[in-house]
Amino acid sequence: MVDVVIIGTMALDSVKTPFGDKKDILGGAATYASFAASFFSQPGIVAVVGDDFPEAHMNLLIDRKINLEGVKKEGKTFRWSGSYEYDMNEAKTLRTELNALETFNPILPDEYKDAEFVFLANIDPSLQLKVLDQIKNPKLVAMDTMNFWIEHKKDDLLNVLKKVDVILLNDAEARQLFNTTNLVKAARAALKLGPKTVIIKKGEHGALMFTNEKHFNAPGYPLEDVKDPTGAGDSFAGAFIGYLAQTKDTSETNMRKAVIFGSVIASFNAEDFSLERMKKLTDKDIEKRFEEMKNIREF
Ligand code: AMP
Repeated sequence: MVDVVIIGTMALDSVKTPFGDKKDILGGAATYASFAASFFSQPGIVAVVGDDFPEAHMNLLIDRKINLEGVKKEGKTFRWSGSYEYDMNEAKTLRTELNALETFNPILPDEYKDAEFVFLANIDPSLQLKVLDQIKNPKLVAMDTMNFWIEHKKDDLLNVLKKVDVILLNDAEARQLFNTTNLVKAARAALKLGPKTVIIKKGEHGALMFTNEKHFNAPGYPLEDVKDPTGAGDSFAGAFIGYLAQTKDTSETNMRKAVIFGSVIASFNAEDFSLERMKKLTDKDIEKRFEEMKNIREF
């Protein structure tokens, strides 16, 4: 059974932060998001990888019971390289190689088509649309994007935006997409286009969630050891939708909890490169940090 379908990149990343310089490590939006979602639910990935994608990476996902039937093998794997300065809230993209993404035509396995939850993670928005069109009757669809697609495929991206229930963006992307310096204005602009919920992630400073009626402000977890924030946004979103799928409750109150689980998993992810920290994560670790987050906000 697949209860969350996730389309996005599976990648080989080269990442430089003040704490290390790693080449060709496991990355990609769908990889991070599905791994994070797997702590709560049964994700299935739609993606493409090349012959250069190590089998060990696939096995890591299979071990977490992530369904890979929607992963196609052709051409060369998507590659991204980026770097972070001491302010690690924003990645500087050094190079993006689309490779197999350029010709990818996603066809969903039958068992994905009945999924109630869909996460359109970071990838070409025209591929996000193709996947969404194949899902029969989704209960909740969330999307993410990034500056690359805002710059290259804005019209397609706005078409996807109209069809989703939740959009997740980081603060810089929200400002860029809606041409405003003000995040409240950006959220209002997004709400006018279709989504009922807008989540703006602010890196280590937490996240804001807007609906037409309400506003929730989630704290960031005060992490001392941030080694590599790559994938924080994706793991936030994966945990968010994974928790909603587990509880089957899409109320605003439950989404607040989902946002906190998102922050918790994203904070763990930033403690090491690639998926190294998430690989060792236990349900107990997650529960403990979730309780700490409650205490941070109590007054
Ligand atoms: P995040 O740090 O959560 O925004 O996402 C980082 C991941 O996004 C990396 O592992 C990259 O492989 C992946 N990525 C980078 N650029 C793109 C892009 N243009 N489209 C899709 N995924 C990307």
